Amino acid sequence: MRIAVISDIHSNLVALNVILEAIDALAPDAIWCLGDVVGYGPEPEACVCVVRERSAICLTGNHDRAVAGQLALEDFHPDAAEAALWQREHLSQEALAWLRERPEMLEEAGITLAHGSPRDPVWEYVVDARTAARNFEYFETRLCLVGHSHLAIAWREKNPGWWTPGADLVWAEPKTPLNLNDERWILNPGSVGQPRDHDPRASFALLDTDANTWTWHRHEYDVESVAKAIFEAGLPRRMGLRLFEGW
Ligand code: ZN
Repeated sequence: MRIAVISDIHSNLVALNVILEAIDALAPDAIWCLGDVVGYGPEPEACVCVVRERSAICLTGNHDRAVAGQLALEDFHPDAAEAALWQREHLSQEALAWLRERPEMLEEAGITLAHGSPRDPVWEYVVDARTAARNFEYFETRLCLVGHSHLAIAWREKNPGWWTPGADLVWAEPKTPLNLNDERWILNPGSVGQPRDHDPRASFALLDTDANTWTWHRHEYDVESVAKAIFEAGLPRRMGLRLFEGW
């Protein structure tokens, strides 16, 4: 099975459309979305409609929860909270209801999926080796897919069962298949709509369970038009500026 994995779209429809075009060219069997469809960007309703139509699975993320009124906005950076309120006002009741129904975590086709981490699916960032090592204890499958950090990275389990469990970090090399061997992995496809690994290109990954590989893909999109839409909507300016840097 070949699965296109997307995450952290953040109401960036321009980036989402570019990524979906690239995914269609690869003709995968399914698209899975790891959450944060909304938050930050200018086109929440359209992004919900498209993801709802195109993805076989879609988890909830912390921003989806906040926009849908399921998480307190006080827990967010003031800019993110302001953007979340704006998004809530620009979403239909139907889209909000759909967001509220998204699961936090799933096991599908023998693969674990969580937005943040298997230990804390909505909030935890797997961005250091210690956190990654601990998280291998919180899922039973060989592979776990996560988003949330907006980093196209992977963690390989090290010393399983030892007193000193660890995890090796692997940075994305786009279009170079990562061989998953028979090891356990925590895999992050990166972010469609707001990359934070200093590469402003939109990101997704293709998981091929027959070839046992994971391949990141990066694509340029019209950052300028999205930033302009953010400024014109009166959303916090930083939401637009950061897209140019990929940070
Ligand atoms: Zn996010």
